[in-house]
Amino acid sequence: MEEKRIATRHIKVNPTCPEAEAIEEAGRILRAGALVAFPTETVYGLGANALDGRAVSRIFEAKGRPSDNPLIVHVAGLEQVDFLAKKVSGVARELMGAFWPGPLTLVLSAGKVVPDEVTAGLLNVAIRMPSHPVALALIRAAGRPVAAPSANLSGRPSPTTAEHVLHDLDGRIAAVLDGGSAGSGVESTVLDLTAPVPLILRPGGVTPDDLKGILGEVRLDQVAQTGVYIGASPRSPGEKYSHYATRAPLWLVIGNPEAVAEKIVELAGEQQASSRRVGILTYSDSRDFSSVGEVIVAGRRDRPETVAAELYAALRRFDEMRVDLILAEGLVEQGVGLAVMNRLRKAAEGRILQV
Ligand code: AMP
Ligand code: MG
Repeated sequence: MEEKRIATRHIKVNPTCPEAEAIEEAGRILRAGALVAFPTETVYGLGANALDGRAVSRIFEAKGRPSDNPLIVHVAGLEQVDFLAKKVSGVARELMGAFWPGPLTLVLSAGKVVPDEVTAGLLNVAIRMPSHPVALALIRAAGRPVAAPSANLSGRPSPTTAEHVLHDLDGRIAAVLDGGSAGSGVESTVLDLTAPVPLILRPGGVTPDDLKGILGEVRLDQVAQTGVYIGASPRSPGEKYSHYATRAPLWLVIGNPEAVAEKIVELAGEQQASSRRVGILTYSDSRDFSSVGEVIVAGRRDRPETVAAELYAALRRFDEMRVDLILAEGLVEQGVGLAVMNRLRKAAEGRILQV
């Protein structure tokens, strides 16, 4: 079937103090049931009115997202949480008090108002309050909660600029609010509060240690840890799909940093000898690999939040460079490093070399 293209409006906004007129216009577009991409403090989101099942279904069409992968609902006030969730526990309120607005998504039992398109038919709904001024202003202008996954074609690296959004979705969505680079670069931590012990379904900017301060005990879902889906029915359906895929296959090399560097030099040398172009994802406090491949330096390994901020743009740049293969250096899986490694493990789709 021929795809119907629409003219996508590219609306520039001031990221710290967005212009009221632009935000009002975007709010009108959402209320009319169309899609607006917008910056958040994690990545760019693709928003629809969360209370309108038909509007939400357009997100799945535009992204080519599998319909059993539920969406996070973004709110601008706590009253919207009470409206969306069946009940909100004291612990949930404490977490909201400590981490909202910010990159923590809470999975709570869903109230009747939440359309099946949002929850993919699950009994739970995932909710977060973003801290980006443009995101908050847009949700307020829409006057209703906004369902929003990352604003990329399904399976591709998440967008951290409006250009990334347009690269994937130009002609498929009504508008993008361009507020420059999105913030931290990795998506929110998804925490399931309906599990017997609170369970991290996806690691993100809020770390297990941050959560332990309030929860005491928190577990990390096995899929979230390994990036590999094996079971029949993961608690977080999104975990079973491939994500962050680069055009060229990405190999993630993990282990002792010295041994990892040696392995990368060895593998890259072999590939170059057979005239293949090798991309190397590395960090500014790591070895200089420029003699054995085409290097992208993404932040510092000892400050994983700096890697998070540059990771998706780096993956997209390897696509533009048209390398044949990518070798990525692993990080220590601690703090935000846990989230970065979760994304790299997914991008590797099982191509992991432990040295
Ligand atoms: P994305 O919107 O692409 O950033 O992904 C949202 C993530 O949240 C996916 O991994 C979903 O599986 C997960 N998620 C959203 N809603 C729910 C829910 N109701 N229960 C469990 N996981 C959810
Ligand atoms: Mg996504």
